[in-house]
Amino acid sequence: MKTTRKIIIIGGGASGMAAGVMAARAGADVVILEQKERLGKKILSTGNGKCNFTNTNMKASYFRGEDTTIVSKVLEQFGAEDTVRFFQELGIVPKNRQGYLYPKSEQAAAVADVLIMELKRLHVEVRLSTKVLGIEKRRDFLVKTSEGNLRGDAVILATGGKASPALGSDGSGYAFAKSFGHSISPVVPALVQLHGKGTFFKNVAGVRVNAEVSIYVDGRRLASDTGELQLTNYGISGIPVFQVSRYAALALQEKAVPTAVLDFMPEYSVEGLCSFFGNRKESNPVKTAEEFLVGMFNKKLIPILLRASGIRGNIPVKDLEEPQLKRLASKCKTFEVEITAVNPFEQAQVCAGGVRTSEIHDTTMESRIVENLYITGELLDIDGICGGYNLQWAWSTGVLAGKSAAKGKDE
Ligand SMILES: Cc1cc2nc3c(=O)[nH]c(=O)nc-3n(C[C@H](O)[C@H](O)[C@H](O)COP(=O)(O)OP(=O)(O)OC[C@H]3O[C@@H](n4cnc5c(N)ncnc54)[C@H](O)[C@@H]3O)c2cc1C
Repeated sequence: MKTTRKIIIIGGGASGMAAGVMAARAGADVVILEQKERLGKKILSTGNGKCNFTNTNMKASYFRGEDTTIVSKVLEQFGAEDTVRFFQELGIVPKNRQGYLYPKSEQAAAVADVLIMELKRLHVEVRLSTKVLGIEKRRDFLVKTSEGNLRGDAVILATGGKASPALGSDGSGYAFAKSFGHSISPVVPALVQLHGKGTFFKNVAGVRVNAEVSIYVDGRRLASDTGELQLTNYGISGIPVFQVSRYAALALQEKAVPTAVLDFMPEYSVEGLCSFFGNRKESNPVKTAEEFLVGMFNKKLIPILLRASGIRGNIPVKDLEEPQLKRLASKCKTFEVEITAVNPFEQAQVCAGGVRTSEIHDTTMESRIVENLYITGELLDIDGICGGYNLQWAWSTGVLAGKSAAKGKDE
């Protein structure tokens, strides 16, 4: 007769709860160990408190990491549609905002709550305020916690990464994975603000502008994104910055010097902008250079663009020569900011890097190094762009690990 498998899930965040539901549905005896005083604490902060839990536009190319081949395999088995169905069955009515899905109630707590309700219905044991301190593999696993030890047939490491440690993910999972022989690619903050060199930032703090942000390292463009750029008193922020930030963070980690190139007029080519300036000059000859740009750019930005182009603000625009207009157009399109730092993990939404995916079975999330050890979510070396992709990764990997851990090898 087959005995019930005892599964220990370390971490009651997004992936840990998804794993718990699936393992219990598959008949396993499941315990979730969570160091915080409640389950799913991070979920409450997601999507500005509304939880963007997935996206209908789901593509493997929206996920990054040293080796992302695992992503399409994982999404094939449990993708965005499966996620929607899973949460609908739990009670979430999705609200679709241009593909970004939220609970209709617009309360992130709803997503955590329905998972908690399901865990309760399935009689999953949840031990809160219980920090895992170490794990040993003998024939089974011995898990040492702040509240005593316990044993299980399988362990799911769902501790998250290092981003936003106040919400629980303090990086302890890397040490557990390492202790089992796993290797960890460099872990850096991602989906985070960037610090720029230059004293002008304090003059433009608060400006929001539609722009394309590209990250260059050694003259090579690594990534770019367009959207609302926010200028802060130390650098740049906003969604397009978040989307490219991991590349700057990894470059800095390797002691390279990343540059953010800001295109304040992404809808124009340099030539198109130059001829636009030419026509504008003809119809506004008496304006000063500074006045000439009013109505196109935020007033705080104008002196910065003129200074970068070597143009005095009080020069009459009729005196501007074509090379000066060309330079101005070029600066508006390729404004370079040397990136000196990224904000720390405390401010990052996710982290890049983690347990190398080549060491994980792509259909089960089981470790290729240690049998019955599973690794999920942000602890793995995969990070998604903003838009529901990181939670999708957590749900998908959690579901696969939960199902598979419950099944074991003997079936
Ligand atoms: C402010 C913010 C907003 C975000 N918004 C979105 C969004 O809208 N959409 C989206 O897709 N993604 C979003 N994310 C990212 C997303 O929340 C994470 O990628 C996802 O929660 C990762 O899931 P996880 O299960 O891997 O880890 P987590 O959800 O971080 O859970 C890990 C859990 O493990 C516990 N734990 C860790 N170590 C131990 C230990 N030693 N013992 C016991 N317990 C332990 C932690 O306390 C934590 O509860 C956001 C992140 C932040 C910080």
